[in-house]
Amino acid sequence: MSENDFTLPGYDIPEEMKNTINITSLDRLYNWGRRSSVWPLMFGLACCAIEMIAASTARYDLARFGMEIMRPSPRQSDLMLVAGTVTKKMVPMIVRLYNQMPEPKYVIAMGACASGGGPFKEGYNVVAGIDKFLPVDVYVPGCPPTPQALLYGLIKLQEKIDKQSLKHVRWYRKGPDSVEIPVPLLGPDLIDLRRTEEIKKIAARKVE
Ligand code: SF4
Repeated sequence: MSENDFTLPGYDIPEEMKNTINITSLDRLYNWGRRSSVWPLMFGLACCAIEMIAASTARYDLARFGMEIMRPSPRQSDLMLVAGTVTKKMVPMIVRLYNQMPEPKYVIAMGACASGGGPFKEGYNVVAGIDKFLPVDVYVPGCPPTPQALLYGLIKLQEKIDKQSLKHVRWYRKGPDSVEIPVPLLGPDLIDLRRTEEIKKIAARKVE
């Protein structure tokens, strides 16, 4: 965030005071702190993860965004980078990890597979996009996306954070937004527990 974005417009600070004081809002200060220290959870699912690893090398310098510290624990992370094919077998673990991350937390779907199933969309073992289970903030297209594309997605996430307000963010509110996502069950197929009633009705119809 540049100094111009940080300072509230309409307040002209005298030239000699510019390096000493700044006038801003609590929202801007709070967002600046969060957007400059987004720590991604360190895990990958398939080929896209290789590009994610490449993006964290010195050549691309993730430290510019304060995002170079990939954490091995969900409890220390605030960004889930879903990089790769989301199989039904992996979804329960991904949702559990997401639930274990503290708010505020964000999700980036990296690549065609994580965004919509990609080349395996109709596969019997593949979920057609992680957004079937988690609230995705940014989609990064490509198969695989380049490290530059991922960086662009990270910048878009920062822009999204910049627009948030303490008055409206979900982690300070009570209600359905703050409820944990039920971990899906993997049996003969993947069962989304949020759809239990619907599944029961369909099963009852089949018995009739
Ligand atoms: S989007 Fe392409 S590169 Fe990424 S995990 Fe799927 S198949 Fe691999």
